[in-house]
Amino acid sequence: MKTPSYHALRINSKRLKRDFDELAQIGATISGGVSRIAFSRDDLLARAWFSERIEEADLILHDDEVGNTSGILPGSDPDAPSILTGSHLDTVPEGGRYDGSIGVLSALECLRTIQEAGLHLRPSLEAISFSDEEGSWHSLFGSMGLTGQLDKPLKPLHTEREEFELLLERVGLEHRTIWNARRDPARIAAFVELHIEQGLRLDRAGLDIGLVTAIVGRCTYELAFHGRAAHAGTSGQTERRDALLGAAVFITRVHARIREGYPTGVVNCGNVQVLPGAFNVVPAKASLLVEVRHPSQAVLADMEAFILRLAHDCAAEYGLTVTEERADKREGQPMSPDVMAAIGLSCDRLGYSHADVHSYAGHDAQMMGRITSSGMIFIPSVGGASHNPEEFTRWEHVEKGANVLLHTILALAGCP
Ligand SMILES: [Zn+2]
Repeated sequence: MKTPSYHALRINSKRLKRDFDELAQIGATISGGVSRIAFSRDDLLARAWFSERIEEADLILHDDEVGNTSGILPGSDPDAPSILTGSHLDTVPEGGRYDGSIGVLSALECLRTIQEAGLHLRPSLEAISFSDEEGSWHSLFGSMGLTGQLDKPLKPLHTEREEFELLLERVGLEHRTIWNARRDPARIAAFVELHIEQGLRLDRAGLDIGLVTAIVGRCTYELAFHGRAAHAGTSGQTERRDALLGAAVFITRVHARIREGYPTGVVNCGNVQVLPGAFNVVPAKASLLVEVRHPSQAVLADMEAFILRLAHDCAAEYGLTVTEERADKREGQPMSPDVMAAIGLSCDRLGYSHADVHSYAGHDAQMMGRITSSGMIFIPSVGGASHNPEEFTRWEHVEKGANVLLHTILALAGCP
């Protein structure tokens, strides 16, 4: 059987690199990174720049009520559900040039390549940039809005609701209509996101591509250890009820036990606060936030129960009590076997090495996966650096990732 000609199709690497270099100028920092905080001036400039590229490529420009921006290449069948691909243009403060940008720019490049090749695919293709993925105001705001998962009323994480609503109005979004960004899941066939790994596994193993099998779920607890304030000199060392001691022992034990008992899980403790917080007073209260992540929902629930049990055991050992409050919980998201198969097929066709990986970071694909078949393609991060100006991915890998994205889209659009 003759090989279809589209098997030889490749993205235009030079054009993609030119876009990448241009975009990296917007919000560039002297340390070589980028700061494009969601809804800041630089984020809006990046969005305007992306809109110009869309129009220049003769794609249909689409903005929605939560600040997502898309370029659409119409398919031959208006009734066929669309294939979406993309990521985000916003960054963390002093972030890197690759996180998010690579996924948006490669999505655009794939559409241009397909258009130039004169391939008339049945479904429409949409290259999308989601707003505030990084959660400067509201984590995964754009993808949650598009998938109809925003709370009513809004619950931004780091700011008051009124302040967030005012901000949205300042950037031209009407907070009363943001729920209209919700799409009909029946109109979307699939979503694929290309992203840097932000970890060490691919780089260390010398692999080209990570095929994401699931995005981990996570839950966060606020734990408070309660003891008794006392004179730091006159109260006997064995009689004191030192809240910080209980918290400190919990922190070291939780790390050791999670490493032993849950090798595919991770734990982190942060935001430690001590009261009264004086060197000459035995701490009466020590609070901290502890977060666990795991790809399996059942194991995550088990880890949750484990950390609470451990906190109570550590408290009891030092004559303390402990109170707990769940601060956040986000369900994990398995990726679609169909999309994973299309990514694997594309890697094999292109001759790129690949391995299955979990994503330990949240991504827009996590939200998209709730309403449509979704998948993610990871490319190596040199040294695992991310959310940092040192973030770096070899261009060879960006190019390979973009080509895998291209062939995955083709396969999903009925060109196997
Ligand atoms: Zn990202």
